[in-house]
Order: sequence, then C-alpha cells, then structure tokens
Amino acid sequence: MASFVPKAASTFVYRARRISVRRGTTRTPDKCWRTATVAVHADNAGLPELSHDWDVAPPIGVTSTFERRNGQAPHTYSRTSCPTRSRCEQVLSSLEAQGGVPCRALLFSSGLSAVHGALSVLCRGEPAKRLLISGGYHGTHAVIAELKATGATFEVAPLPGPEGVIAGDVVWLETPKNPTSELYDVAEYAARGADVIVDATLAPPPLQYPLAVGARVVVHAATKALAGHSDVVAGVVVAADEGILGDLERYRHAVGCVPGSFETWLLLRSLRTLDLRLHRQATSAAELARWLRSHDKVVAVHSSAGSELARRQMKDGLVGGTFAIELQTEEMATKLPAALTLFKDATSLGGCESLAEWRRRYDDQISPRLVRISVGLEHPEDLRCDFERALDTL
Ligand SMILES: *Cc1c(COP(=O)(O)O)cnc(C)c1O
Repeated sequence: MASFVPKAASTFVYRARRISVRRGTTRTPDKCWRTATVAVHADNAGLPELSHDWDVAPPIGVTSTFERRNGQAPHTYSRTSCPTRSRCEQVLSSLEAQGGVPCRALLFSSGLSAVHGALSVLCRGEPAKRLLISGGYHGTHAVIAELKATGATFEVAPLPGPEGVIAGDVVWLETPKNPTSELYDVAEYAARGADVIVDATLAPPPLQYPLAVGARVVVHAATKALAGHSDVVAGVVVAADEGILGDLERYRHAVGCVPGSFETWLLLRSLRTLDLRLHRQATSAAELARWLRSHDKVVAVHSSAGSELARRQMKDGLVGGTFAIELQTEEMATKLPAALTLFKDATSLGGCESLAEWRRRYDDQISPRLVRISVGLEHPEDLRCDFERALDTL
C-alpha cells in the first residue's frame, strides 16, 4: 500500500536542507536565521524548485493535475501534492524545526481533520491502544466519538498525572488548554514512553516547540493563530518520525482531506507576519489578564502567562493570545461579550480581531460564569479601556 503513495514534493525539497539544532534559529551552511526570517524566506531562498518565474509574492496554483514530460513531473495530482501547498508546508516545517528537531509539516483541510488524521494513525494497532485525554477543545472529543462509532478498538481514559502513564499509551495534551490556558509538562509525559500528541493551537512556534521536549506529533488548527486573520479553515500535523509521516501521508492521500489552494495561499501569506502577530497578541493578552485580576467584578483569571512551567516550556513565559475570566454571576458572563465594542462576540481565536465569547454556549463542560477572550492586534491600551467601560455597565 505505502508504495502506491507518490512522495510529496515537499519531502525531497525539505530533506535537501540542513535544519538546525539550536532553538529559534535555522542553520544552513551559510545562514543562521531567526523565526521572523524563516517565516519570510524558508520557501524560496535556495529552493528554485518552489519559486515561480520572478514573482516576489507566491502565486496561487489552481491546477488539479500536472502534465508529465519525459515521464516525469514534480507533482502528479493535487490531492497528493501541489506547489502552493508544498511551499506553505515548507515554511511550516522550517518554523517547527527551529525547536531543534528536523521535522515535516502536512496540511489538512481543518484543525479537526488534522486531529482525526493524528488519532487515526497513532491509535491503531495491536494490542489496542489506550488514549488518555481530559477536557480541552470539545471538537476533539467529537472526533474521538466518531472514530469509536466506526469501530476503532482503542480505549479512552481520563488523563492521569505523568506517573499514571505507561509505555505504549497515546497521550493527548492540549497545551495551553482551551479555554483555561492550563499547561502540561510535555517532557514529563514523554519520559514515561508514551506517544504524546500535542495540540499546540493556542501557542504555535516560536512560543513553544513540543517535538523538542519529546512529543511524537504536533497538531495545529491553522484556522487560529497560524492563519491569524479569521479567513481560513485549515489544519497542520507535524512529526519527525518518517514512519509516522508516511502513515499520515497515506491517510491524507486516501481520505483526501487537503485544503484548497486559496486557503493554503492565505495561510502562506499570513505566516510571513506570524512572529510579529504572536508577540503582540501574547504580550497584550498577558497585560490585559494582569489588569483584569484586580477588577472587582472578575472573580478568576485563567491565564498561565508567567507561570513556572510557562517560563520553562514557552518562549518568554508567554502562552499566546487566549485566556479566560470568570465573572461574579452567569448573567454578567452572558452580557459581557455584547457590552464590549472592540471585542466581537464570536467564537474562534488567534485572529487580528479581538473576540470574547460566553463559552458555555459551545461547551457544556465549562463554567457558566466563564468568558473566553482572544486578544487581537488592536492597541492593548484601547482593549483595556474597552473592558473597563464594558465591566462598568454590568
Ligand atoms: C479550533 C480548534 C481546533 C479545531 O480546528 P478547526 O480548524 O476549527 O477544525 C482544534 N483544537 C483546538 C485547540 C482549537 O482551538
């Protein structure tokens, strides 16, 4: 079966480069780049096979199929690979590889199709695997329910502390966790010999590098901070192990859950500014969370920014632009999103527009007094003033 899958172009292109071992930089024989540079240049410098004519901005390739010339073509059929996707995957691979572990990123049609792909590949086999997971994004639990409904043999159990994990377990760590920003120590779980999958949606690179602390697979809803403009639905799975990558490629080729060219192009365009956006969102969120802690209508602020684990596992102790607050009453929590002006009352996170939502609407496991906040790119002082005014009206 495996030999049936044509190798994606990104495979040989990526391997042609030497990716680094020092965190936060990509080393090539003559270059030592930081995240901001990798995001702009990983797909073209020294890679003429991914460039197109003399364009500075990448073109959008829309073709579904490719002509063979003399029996050869760099791509065969767009479900398998196409230039726009390979180029975007090249940037994503390079960004994640800055953690020090050479790896490859594969794009999926949504965050949840990436979740489905990662679980399908890691939870199969004999003897039946044990998948350990608690809380986090509700959609991930819906994916597990679908897999179980089609007869998947893996068992599902609540996530214990690292001491409760044994070799062979599959551990799902959403870190930071949606919506409460709780962090998990990836290295401690990985040290037990488990296959750790990290859903890193709330904090993509350069905020954390889960493969560098022992994760087998990293999943991102690119829909959120990676794309960052509330205009794309896409997902990413990253791994270093060629066996896992081969299984993921075969899965994606069989199921066909690839993003369209326009989404892929928008994501590639957005990655150019990832470093700037994430830094601004994460620092504004940390600032706003700190201010909200001293507001008398706010009874709890769920943000891990600056915690001991954040300082150890995350860049500068920052955890991204998402956190949550609990208000005195459920009524206050339902009214706050509409009372804010700059924060739109909408679900999702990671975009340039700030959002606030009464999370109970989507997730019945969540406190009815909780409001999830996704901080965008507006000036942090304007965001604070908006909260001050809105909280006064409650
Ligand atoms: C949004 C989200 C997903 C799902 O991504 P989609 O692109 O909406 O399918 C998965 N995990 C987390 C943590 C998310 O926030």
